[in-house]
Amino acid sequence: MPAFRHRMLLDWINDVSTPLRAGKRWPIIDVDEQTLRDYQELFSVARDWGYNGITIWGLYVDHAWPVDLKSCLTPARKKIIDGILDAARRCGITVYSGMGVYTWGFEEIIRAHPQTSRNEGRWCYGRFVESNGVAMCYHQPAAREWMRKIIDFAVQEMGVQGFGFQSADQGRCYCSQCRQLGDMEYHALVNAETAQYTRERWPGVKLSVSGWGINFDKDEDWPHLKKMAGQLDFITDVMDQSFDRGREYRRKLIQTLPCDFGSLGRTVVVPPQRWERDRWFLPHARLLGQNISQLAADGGKAFEFFAGPLANPQFDLMTRYVGRMLTHPEESIEKALGLAVDDVLGPHTPAVRDSLVQWLLEIERVYFSRVTEVKGEFDYEPLMGVDAGPPIYLDRLRTALADFGQDMRKLQEQYQPLRKQCRQEAKAALIDRCLTNVQKDIRWRLENPKT
Ligand SMILES: [Zn+2]
Repeated sequence: MPAFRHRMLLDWINDVSTPLRAGKRWPIIDVDEQTLRDYQELFSVARDWGYNGITIWGLYVDHAWPVDLKSCLTPARKKIIDGILDAARRCGITVYSGMGVYTWGFEEIIRAHPQTSRNEGRWCYGRFVESNGVAMCYHQPAAREWMRKIIDFAVQEMGVQGFGFQSADQGRCYCSQCRQLGDMEYHALVNAETAQYTRERWPGVKLSVSGWGINFDKDEDWPHLKKMAGQLDFITDVMDQSFDRGREYRRKLIQTLPCDFGSLGRTVVVPPQRWERDRWFLPHARLLGQNISQLAADGGKAFEFFAGPLANPQFDLMTRYVGRMLTHPEESIEKALGLAVDDVLGPHTPAVRDSLVQWLLEIERVYFSRVTEVKGEFDYEPLMGVDAGPPIYLDRLRTALADFGQDMRKLQEQYQPLRKQCRQEAKAALIDRCLTNVQKDIRWRLENPKT
């Protein structure tokens, strides 16, 4: 099986931050010199492990573009962002800017220019939401003008090399005119139109659509999907809905689409923004490795790994491992994970490395074998919130939490002789600290059961 064509990382700008980021509404997009250092390190790892792109959200804005656009880029911010883009270029990593299409980022513009929107509610993840201050209307010409202005701004002022479009995550306009359009029909229209404009105005800029909130599981949607895909480099079935319809359905869909097709790996682990970096450790190499191999076998050519801080050893290992799997999708999970273990921990012998690999897979097993649903977004703490939130990922274990706690205690004991046989002592010690902190959270949850 050949390597994936689009070997991508994906994140909100601070998901890879070495220090935790708290004290503000999610997503925090503050940047500083440390942000630049974090990306320099990430890109150097990404290059060494075979990635060739990253979609970054929050390069300029979180929920709202300022109406003058320019003021989102203070000189200090521009310096950092330019540095990030430079570092990426030097490592051969194409930066796609996460870009809301008609939604995500338009709250202030809609307030200042109400003719961009119609306040008749929106359709969001399969349900009607009465309030709408977030989605512009496809049928309002002013909305199209703003969309294009922002695309131009991002390419001209920022020099981004690609866009990861997203039109559905916060819902779409559901005014009397827009609701005549089916869901996929609507998203295909806004994405295709924005992509076509970008292609013509800025040839060479890479384009993808990330399908948060879009369904890929209906045969009748294929004509719309094809229309949208005709303008794109790749499209991501974020929640693997086409996989749920069966491998044969997905294979046919992949063959039908005129652009490359990808996934986020079915089990999407989102790093906690507001937690200390040594508070969690839950690698999921088997789940992701299987998903990557199956996607490659079905003809998939794109994959986006949800990135996290290298300061956390789970992401330190998994970033490398996934990069290896994307360049060698036929390789065994154990071999690819062993290479990541070699690089991060430096075990003295192949036997120690192999034991560490089995130990990591066992950590994955004792958690994921006990949760009922391994598909979808996994948050450690609630995404929303201002300060560190409770360990909600443990609640998925329900009555098995105490057993999981016992297993983690045993696994920490098993780790002690192994860690002593690693050259990278600081990193080996960091994993041990994470294991201790995971057990602290387990104890806290057992003593404070969820009501
Ligand atoms: Zn509308």
